[in-house]
Amino acid sequence: MAWDDLYSAAFQRVRERLGKVGNVLLAYNTNIDAIKYIDSSDLEARIEKVGKEEVLQFSEELPERITQVQHLLGGILWSVRRGKAAELFVESCPVRFYMKRWGWDELRMGGQVGIMANLLGGVYGVQVIAHVPQISRLQASLFKEGPIYVPTLENRKLKFVHPKDFAGDEENLIHYIYEFPRGFRVFDFEAPRENRFIANADDYNPNLYIRSEFSENFEEIADRVELAIISGLQALTKENYSEPFEEINRHLGILNDREIPVHLEFAFTPDETVRKKLVGILGKFTSVGLNEVELASIMEVMGEKAIAEKLLAHDPVDPVAVVEAMLKLADGTGVQRIHFHTYGYYLALTNYEGEQVRDALLFAALAAAAKAKLGDVRNIDDVAGAMDVPVNEKAQEVEDVLTGEFGLKDGIAQLDGYQLAFVPTKIVEKPKSTVGIGDTISSSAFIGEFALR
Ligand code: ADP
Repeated sequence: MAWDDLYSAAFQRVRERLGKVGNVLLAYNTNIDAIKYIDSSDLEARIEKVGKEEVLQFSEELPERITQVQHLLGGILWSVRRGKAAELFVESCPVRFYMKRWGWDELRMGGQVGIMANLLGGVYGVQVIAHVPQISRLQASLFKEGPIYVPTLENRKLKFVHPKDFAGDEENLIHYIYEFPRGFRVFDFEAPRENRFIANADDYNPNLYIRSEFSENFEEIADRVELAIISGLQALTKENYSEPFEEINRHLGILNDREIPVHLEFAFTPDETVRKKLVGILGKFTSVGLNEVELASIMEVMGEKAIAEKLLAHDPVDPVAVVEAMLKLADGTGVQRIHFHTYGYYLALTNYEGEQVRDALLFAALAAAAKAKLGDVRNIDDVAGAMDVPVNEKAQEVEDVLTGEFGLKDGIAQLDGYQLAFVPTKIVEKPKSTVGIGDTISSSAFIGEFALR
């Protein structure tokens, strides 16, 4: 069948059944993204004011964390000079105050939980229970209307309210995002491509702070949900991971006892110890979502350097290397579903069969295209509107390789006790924004698949 027909049939089916998806638990990371489009003369003046020489030094070599304004401006300059993204933690209150006064142009929902809550609850109308480490007024205002709930205690009884109805004003967890376009000039430097520097004024998410409403009532919360998506473990380090990991393991045990499918959204985890530990507990998850960089980083800690290199060597990513890596990961951990996404195509390896796996990937590709096209998906009609975006032409060569290698038919193949599902994605030529597309893809595919079951 032609991909356009498969796309439209899959979308219709998922749309009709979204209402059947039960409550989804989303934990743990939510924050505020404050985006500032930097202005070159403003930046130059600020650099001169605090000492150009010192700032230049930090633009050669990034400091470990930000404890003074020179580190912040040096970090921004480091990113501009290389056209590369970087993220540093801001330890100092005066620097946090400096950034606050410098201001922002735009506020956006940040953190995987926040982004997925707005999509699942605010767009798909699926009931979600979200973990929001700190519910400030500003944070609450970034939630869309819809069935999005946070637990709260009233007379020691657990209740669920929309974040906007949560009584109390907690801390603002702000990730300051300093964006610059390609060709952006500061002094004699010119950015080779557009990118951003992130200064993280957030003491909660990086340490995976878990609210007492969750830790003390997790059984009761788990009794109310049918699916769970876990994210936000990527910022942990070998110094701080052990306590949160204990709590996460306890949560996973409670969810596993109730046979609630749990998806892990695997964002890039720089700390190798933590990455290894994550692979170690992957068998407690039903499903995992990742891109090529993340899959390669997992192969590295599993001792599969050659596969890791192959994953990063080609554009589009070599699908045979991806399948090889997914089989290693599935065999090595027991995780039942692996959803891989890259620019141009998605693959899912499952230890069960069914067209719903492929159809959910198609639905996710539409959601991703809508997000790329509009920046923000407002309603399900926006997703339908992405049907017009053409299917990526380069994916044909990927499909041909998979057909030759594994006998793929209509995007589905059987191999070694697993099912492989493939879809070519729709690619938006001039995307409005690509922030959070990965989260959109993974959560849409995961809940889409359960809608179709
Ligand atoms: P992020 O962490 O920013 O969400 P990911 O790498 O996890 O990034 O996800 C990015 C994914 O978004 C890619 O794998 C690709 O499938 C999809 N994508 C990127 N750009 C576009 C685009 N212009 N149109 C459609 N999909 C895109």
